[in-house]
Amino acid sequence: MTNTASQLRSRFILIIIMLVINILVPLLSTDWIKAVLDEYEVHEFRLHRVQQLLSAIKDGETGQRGFILTGREDYLTPLFQGYAEVDHLLGPLAQELDPDRFPEFTVLQQQIIQQRNYWNSVIELRREQGQEAAIARVNVGEGKRLMDLIRQEAGAIEARLKQQGLMLEQTTELRRQIVRIALLCIALLDLFLIALLYKFTFRILRETQESERKLFELSEELAHGMERLRLRNHETVLMSRMAGALHSTTDFPECYDIITRFAKQLFGSAPGCIHLYHPSRDVLEMVGAWNGWEAQKTLFEPHQCWSIRRGQTHKVSDVSTDLICSHMTDIPLAGDGYACVPLMAQGEPIGVLTLCSHPVSGMELAEAFAEQVSLGVANLALRDSLRHQSIVDALTGLHNRRFLDETLSRELLRAGRNQATTAVVLLDVDHFKRFNDNHGHEAGDAVLRHLAVEMKRLVRASDLACRYGGEEFALILPDCTPAGALSRCEALREAVSHMQVIYGGGPLGPISISLGIALYPQHGTHADQLLHTADKALYEAKNRGRNQVYMSDLASESDSPALTDLTSPEY
Ligand code: GH3
Ligand code: MG
Ligand code: MG
Repeated sequence: MTNTASQLRSRFILIIIMLVINILVPLLSTDWIKAVLDEYEVHEFRLHRVQQLLSAIKDGETGQRGFILTGREDYLTPLFQGYAEVDHLLGPLAQELDPDRFPEFTVLQQQIIQQRNYWNSVIELRREQGQEAAIARVNVGEGKRLMDLIRQEAGAIEARLKQQGLMLEQTTELRRQIVRIALLCIALLDLFLIALLYKFTFRILRETQESERKLFELSEELAHGMERLRLRNHETVLMSRMAGALHSTTDFPECYDIITRFAKQLFGSAPGCIHLYHPSRDVLEMVGAWNGWEAQKTLFEPHQCWSIRRGQTHKVSDVSTDLICSHMTDIPLAGDGYACVPLMAQGEPIGVLTLCSHPVSGMELAEAFAEQVSLGVANLALRDSLRHQSIVDALTGLHNRRFLDETLSRELLRAGRNQATTAVVLLDVDHFKRFNDNHGHEAGDAVLRHLAVEMKRLVRASDLACRYGGEEFALILPDCTPAGALSRCEALREAVSHMQVIYGGGPLGPISISLGIALYPQHGTHADQLLHTADKALYEAKNRGRNQVYMSDLASESDSPALTDLTSPEY
């Protein structure tokens, strides 16, 4: 830009210089030629004077000759007029003609004086001695000689003046030529300058247009960039909201719903779905689909997807040439194909994100989305596993005491709302220590596992069986009557007594359990109260000889209000 400005400045300076030249040269050249012309004019005038001088001398000679022939005085008038004329002409000529350059003029002046003296003497002779004497004098030929000399000198001066005049003419012509050439050069320079300016102006114009175009492209690019940025920002916000939601959820169906809802917003109209590994790890099942995903199958095996096999994004741009995953064979694919992005957690695939008709430019988004989903699902799985581990007993697979503590209060509140009876049962394996002592700890564990299976089998889905600690277990039986609780515990005791645990190639021998029952609200309304009562009842069952169910007397153990309906359709 600075360069252009300095170029523009130099062009303007050039224009100004050319304008000055255009004005000055014609002005000065006119003066220059005029000076020669003036000189030529003066010169011509000088020449004219010389010619007049000769003519006046000739007039004088004529007058003198007429007087000699006639003797009439009036014939002398031209002579005297000639004298006056000659004097009148000689004065300026003497000033104008440089004696060095015109030595003939000095000679001419002297000859004129001599001629005038000669004429005066001849005229005097005519007057005094008559015509014959005068003619005799004339015949001597001096007058003629003088006249010839004058003619000769005047002719020489005239010739010199003419030569000078010629030179002046040539000078004038030369100057004219020079001026013409100069004007032509200036005109050419003007033309060149105009061409230069024309070129420069159009170059500037072109550059301006180019700059405008570039600026326009830049602004377009900027607008696109801004739009992309806005979109990216929107996607980031959505992604962050999804990550937040996934982080907060504790439930898999809710997690899948979150993924589906955000996918709909992020991928525009592109249909897509998410498949996750089944816990068995031998099949992937669809957990969410969006934008009219058309799939007949919701399950496929891991080897059916190229992205799972290769552990990287599998993009199909041309359905006629690219490799198609076999789980996609029943999907009507458009010409722009699909993409499968593996969901990876700690280097292991946990599922696949599949998108149809998704532009290549958006693969980054798809991969970022897959990463967030992987993270969210893996986190949820981890939290679920941790929670599972924290509430489930590893040996028996039953819930543990922590879960019982969490659940019991809730169950009691619900029972209170529904005015229903809930039984809290504690049971303990009789002489369990013997299994450990006689057959080893493993055998004891086997007994506990079998007991857990039996408990699960015999309780309802709404009941809760927990490992309370060691070889003690707890049962929570909501909505049951005292009789129902007794019969259920009795059935369990009966079933356990028939339980055969094979260990080390042989049966471990009879297993029996003792059970203590406490009822809500008859024996207490708080969890601690009920567990304490159940423990006391269990203790009583042990005391009474083990392998039995004990429930303390309702009237003596509780001052709780009587139940309106203690019957249950099931118990
Ligand atoms: P009682 O009839 O009075 O209940 O006698 P018991 O032998 O069952 O009771 P005791 O309290 O004397 O013994 C309980 C034993 O259970 C002690 C402990 O080593 C064992 N035990 C606790 N937890 C486990 C477990 O997870 N696995 C195994 N194998 N043994 C356990
Ligand atoms: Mg015990
Ligand atoms: Mg025991």
